[in-house]
Amino acid sequence: MLLDPVQSRACIAKALREGRAILAVNADSPAAITDCLEAARRTGAPIIIETSLWQLTGHSFGAGDPVRGLVRYLVQLSAMANAEPYRETRVLFHTDHIKGPETLRILGAAIRGVEANLCGSTAHVAASSISLDSSEFSEEENIRHICTLCEIASEAQRDLTLEMEAGVDDGLTPPEVTKRLLSAVEEKHPGRICLWAPGLGTRHGFSAEGYPEFSAEAVASQRALAREIAGRDIGIALHGSSGLSTEKLREAITAGVVKVNWSSESLLIRSRAAAEYYATHQAELEKTHPKWKATAMDHGLQSYISECYLPRVIERMELLTGL
Ligand SMILES: [Zn+2]
Repeated sequence: MLLDPVQSRACIAKALREGRAILAVNADSPAAITDCLEAARRTGAPIIIETSLWQLTGHSFGAGDPVRGLVRYLVQLSAMANAEPYRETRVLFHTDHIKGPETLRILGAAIRGVEANLCGSTAHVAASSISLDSSEFSEEENIRHICTLCEIASEAQRDLTLEMEAGVDDGLTPPEVTKRLLSAVEEKHPGRICLWAPGLGTRHGFSAEGYPEFSAEAVASQRALAREIAGRDIGIALHGSSGLSTEKLREAITAGVVKVNWSSESLLIRSRAAAEYYATHQAELEKTHPKWKATAMDHGLQSYISECYLPRVIERMELLTGL
């Protein structure tokens, strides 16, 4: 089932208490969403499905309009997550890397949610947790946007669970920056921030030379500082996990990483499987071949990708949850 913001906070807090992390997959297509839900069902672990501006405006969802994309994404995800095979699976929907002039319009829509008619019954569905991309913001702009999201939620009488970030690709975030950012939001809107994504020395994408700056100590000190500022435990969200070794990832989770974003490697696995499918099925795509239609249909391609992708998602989830 798709969790609401209050259920999401409880789910994240439970994982943090148990020393586990939740996989957050930047799911790029409806078929990727299906595979992620299936991986979560098989492992019994919760999963975060996240979407960024490029999916919301992209061809499979908004086709140019990010708010239309958000509605389509939310309705598709909730239709699957609330359906029978996945009713017992904890699914969170998170907005990841939303930026640009439409940030507040998109995130306002994600907070307010939509009424969806799912198999005959109407349900209100909204984002489980929210973050925005602060990479082009000053500290003041970052604080102002986060506070505005809190005000939008209050006006709409909706709950809100937030991830706040700071320079996730810019090396280690200094403690004084953490203090300034978290304190400013906590003072005005206490209790809304559930996840903190400081710079931890990782970067988005792949890295040939690893991340020499990254250490479990940096995670632990950011977690301790966030707890001191907020007066409660706040989980660390890790961006740029694709280039991190298994050993480092395990250490990071023990130190307080509770949400592990996974995008680059996920995309690579799916796109390589697609390339392999077309390379190995060329003969079947001849119009005289008896199987050409089954091979040409999206279902043929997506089923092939799923066979490669699903075991990798399960493997990643097992690593994060220590199963
Ligand atoms: Zn990220």
